[in-house]
Amino acid sequence: MIKVTRKHVVYEMSSSNCPAAVVESGEVVVFETYDCYQGQLLPEENTFEDVDRRFGNPATGPVYVNGAMPGDMLKISIEKLDLGPIGILDIGPTSGALKEYFPEAIIHRIRVTDNTLNYDGRLELPTKPMIGVIGNAPAKGAVSTMTPMDHGGNMDCTMITEGATLYLPVFVEGALLAIGDLHAIMGDGEVANCGLEIEGEATLKLEVIHNMPITFPVVEKETHWIVIASGATLDQASEKAAKQLFRFLTECQNLSKTDAGMLIDMLGNLIVCQIVNPMKTVRMEIPKWAIERLKHTA
Ligand code: CA
Ligand code: CA
Repeated sequence: MIKVTRKHVVYEMSSSNCPAAVVESGEVVVFETYDCYQGQLLPEENTFEDVDRRFGNPATGPVYVNGAMPGDMLKISIEKLDLGPIGILDIGPTSGALKEYFPEAIIHRIRVTDNTLNYDGRLELPTKPMIGVIGNAPAKGAVSTMTPMDHGGNMDCTMITEGATLYLPVFVEGALLAIGDLHAIMGDGEVANCGLEIEGEATLKLEVIHNMPITFPVVEKETHWIVIASGATLDQASEKAAKQLFRFLTECQNLSKTDAGMLIDMLGNLIVCQIVNPMKTVRMEIPKWAIERLKHTA
């Protein structure tokens, strides 16, 4: 098993990033990740004045996967997500839908043990670990790790969990996958500012898939297929997600246009992932069993 330590972090996804490791398709890689503040808020005495914003949202990597070429998909099986002992919750005047209510930034350090988080000794919750930032290099130029798009990136999708499989389009040779920004838990939409921001380790199996004719992120869960779309506004992201799901159903699942459209009418759920990043992200979910039923009765 290959381990990529967090000595190797990037703040942009780019074809010009130097690979931290080169792996074969089918290999399992452990990525050691920082929290989104690169640990700068973990010391009790530190405030946002101590945070150097240049080190925001670090992603560990990138990993070059041999054989991955533009037009392929990278299949990422999330085998394990291990969280650090302390997560950060913060809310303040600079970001999120509630900023007018918080003229001063507030930081809470939340203890996480045995898959349980303890909010200030008053509320215990089971963790729901997820990966906030996961992306390949984009086709052109560099994209900040703050920004989500078709290459993945800062999607903040609560469905990117242990046990899920994420398919990301490959735009450059080797894919150049980088990940970071784990959350111990996050409400869908990430409306107030953040998730429970935490360092950790992600164990991922990476495989190159040829002949999957899509160019956007797709998540496979036990019961659902999910497409993820980002856009300048929620309206744009939503329309894009609907079209992506239609394309996924017709081009990857071979449903007729009519069946695909009407299945989306009946069972396609549009859900907001995040509204706080430079591009907004939504997802559409559709149950697998209904796709299979329609396939076998066409
Ligand atoms: Ca994020
Ligand atoms: Ca985050």
